[in-house]
Amino acid sequence: LVDGQIYEDHQITVCVRKRPLSRKEITRKEIDVISVPRKDTIIVHEPRNKVDLTKFLENHKFRFDYAFDDRCDNAMVYKYTAKPLVQTIFDGGMATCFAYGQTGSGKTHTMGGEFNGKVQDCKNGIYAMAARDVFTYLKSPRYRALNLVVSASFFEIYSGKVFDLLSDKQKLRVLEDGKQQVQVVGLTEKVVDSVEEVLKIIQLGNTARTSGQTSANSNSSRSHAVFQIVLRPPGSTKIHGKFSFIDLAGNERGADTSSANRQTRMEGAEINKSLLALKECIRALGKQSAHLPFRVSKLTQVLRDSFIGEKSKTCMIAMISPGLSSCEHTLNTLRYADRVKEL
Ligand code: ADP
Ligand code: MG
Repeated sequence: LVDGQIYEDHQITVCVRKRPLSRKEITRKEIDVISVPRKDTIIVHEPRNKVDLTKFLENHKFRFDYAFDDRCDNAMVYKYTAKPLVQTIFDGGMATCFAYGQTGSGKTHTMGGEFNGKVQDCKNGIYAMAARDVFTYLKSPRYRALNLVVSASFFEIYSGKVFDLLSDKQKLRVLEDGKQQVQVVGLTEKVVDSVEEVLKIIQLGNTARTSGQTSANSNSSRSHAVFQIVLRPPGSTKIHGKFSFIDLAGNERGADTSSANRQTRMEGAEINKSLLALKECIRALGKQSAHLPFRVSKLTQVLRDSFIGEKSKTCMIAMISPGLSSCEHTLNTLRYADRVKEL
């Protein structure tokens, strides 16, 4: 496989990534129920009981553009998902990369960077690797003359509200003008001249996102994080290209709709709504889309311009935990990803 070439004509790429069992899971003898027999195939081996209570394995097989097993690192995942889309934004298109999956399946690890204990090293996350390639393209003979200006922003959507991760989680309003252009009012957009500057922004946003939470009751599992790199012609407010990276809320939270807690229930309903709308919007990528459910959720509303363009491209990485105890959530994740892929 040559770098990025296989997906050049795909508007939508859907991949799955299996993370390894954690040390904790191994200690409690969690069983790995996932196998990746081919580079595009993943199988969930679900233990079941027959009527006479004899046990058997039901195998659920799924095919995607790519299936990454637990030995793949972030660099490998990046190479076949977001990397080919860097070209798209230089050619004047919109690119989007989603990390989808249950809480604990590896979304933030993949997008924001690997954890070293509690510290997250953003350098090997997809955000940072893409930023590095953006600057490589910027300086390349083919695009140098465009003198494009790069800026970055980072925000969070929590319970249908937008918070700026680069400005003390300031709450922001989303406005739509008469021409259905969507604007996040007052969003911090930092002009950046080097990868190092982007890394600082990513680190700042990563830290803001997780500050003041305990792992047992983490807000980040109930929020969508959106990191964006925008290219503009010099001296212009017009967008040349935009790359959005979304670390989605844990999809199991969408099922919190029967919780005893009113707040949790409402958040669950909001997440459920946004993930369903997202699926519809991705499936309709680049098509005439007057009736698409952009307005149904803040997430799809703020990403509207990334879905409608003819040159829009998107990739989704469905993250899964390998353990038996996650089996049901894993199947939900794979079924969702399967629906996104079908056209
Ligand atoms: P999510 O954002 O989906 O809730 P995280 O990215 O926080 O999940 O991952 C949960 C835990 O699993 C973290 O401790 C993370 O370091 C670890 N982890 C996730 N993916 C991998 C991977 N591919 N390899 C090693 N550890 C991983
Ligand atoms: Mg996370």
